[in-house]
Amino acid sequence: MQYDYLIVGSGLFGAVFAQQAREKGKRVLVLERRNHIGGNVYTEKVEGINVHKYGAHIFHTNDDTVWKYVNRFAEFNRFTNSPVANYKGEIYSLPFNMYTFNKMWGVVTPEEAAKKIAQQRQEIQGEPKNLEEQAISLVGRDIFEKLIKGYTEKQWGRECKDLPAFIIKRLPVRYTYDNNYFNAFYQGIPVGGYTRLIENLLDGIEVRLGVDYLRHRIEYEQMVEKIIYTGPIDEFFDYRLGALEYRSVRFENELLDIPNFQGNAAVNYTDRETPWTRIIEHKWFEFGRDEQGNDLEKTVISREYSSEWKRGDEPYYPVNDEKNSELYSRYKTEGEKLKNVVFGGRLGTYAYYDMDVTVKKALEAEV
Ligand code: UDP
Repeated sequence: MQYDYLIVGSGLFGAVFAQQAREKGKRVLVLERRNHIGGNVYTEKVEGINVHKYGAHIFHTNDDTVWKYVNRFAEFNRFTNSPVANYKGEIYSLPFNMYTFNKMWGVVTPEEAAKKIAQQRQEIQGEPKNLEEQAISLVGRDIFEKLIKGYTEKQWGRECKDLPAFIIKRLPVRYTYDNNYFNAFYQGIPVGGYTRLIENLLDGIEVRLGVDYLRHRIEYEQMVEKIIYTGPIDEFFDYRLGALEYRSVRFENELLDIPNFQGNAAVNYTDRETPWTRIIEHKWFEFGRDEQGNDLEKTVISREYSSEWKRGDEPYYPVNDEKNSELYSRYKTEGEKLKNVVFGGRLGTYAYYDMDVTVKKALEAEV
């Protein structure tokens, strides 16, 4: 055998696994079907701005091991995510915190806010059964209607009643004046962009770009001991049990000849009517400056449109409802029968992982 490991996909899971394997002296080959490395964390430099080509990525974690590990391969800046919600021109702070409650109801103290939410929560009896019930139970109906319902329906193309409760639990609810979107001890964006981080992880490793493993299976299987597959698991099995559902995202990118479009990295449009879910202004991930510290004169913005995935589109988010979870578990069983293949990452394991969990899973995978 020519290689110990064939790693299909050069996203975060693939790149970390590859790095670990190489560090242990294994012979590694990475195949990437796109013409660049990095999967969906890929960034591209436009006018000095690192543009997150497949959507905004903000690294955050509570895990010391993961944080120390990624810091070996990149320096992280001190960016803290504080998205703003725009509901028909009314601006609210995210995640849900005292600024949000003050704007919504005029309340000033945590006690007043808690009282308001307790009143509104009464309509939910027992354990919340879906995203809508979970949201109302966490923040009440007013916030649900203005800041959650429209956004979620656009993002997922499904009613809030038909979505799992865990999705909304990703967002903290705080009775403090703290706009930090994440409950994470460590947070930041790699200086020089995510592409540089991935390049550093893959340093010295053979990577073949523009090669679709699924079209060349037989040829590659003969060359390797073990395969680490990070693409969609249903596609690996040629959809033989049926297709899993994913959400896809389309971006409309614009380079504008002004220094400041919206004054923040992320603005969420939480009404149902605006067709995009959010607008990202990439320069604010790096404080509007280039690496030498010069202010950037132009700006790049991306409007994000969510759509149901169909074959040929890029899958971004698994739809972890009951039907899909059941189908995934059947694919997982099929996968476990293959002793020489390990499935990893968001697509390989059909899981809505954040980047830190992806890194952790790759570090824990046996090399
Ligand atoms: N969400 C919302 N309003 C917002 C932001 C998020 O209702 O302004 C909900 C929505 O259902 C979304 C989920 O919270 O799918 C998770 O949001 P997160 O920001 O974690 O999503 P991601 O950045 O992964 O797309």
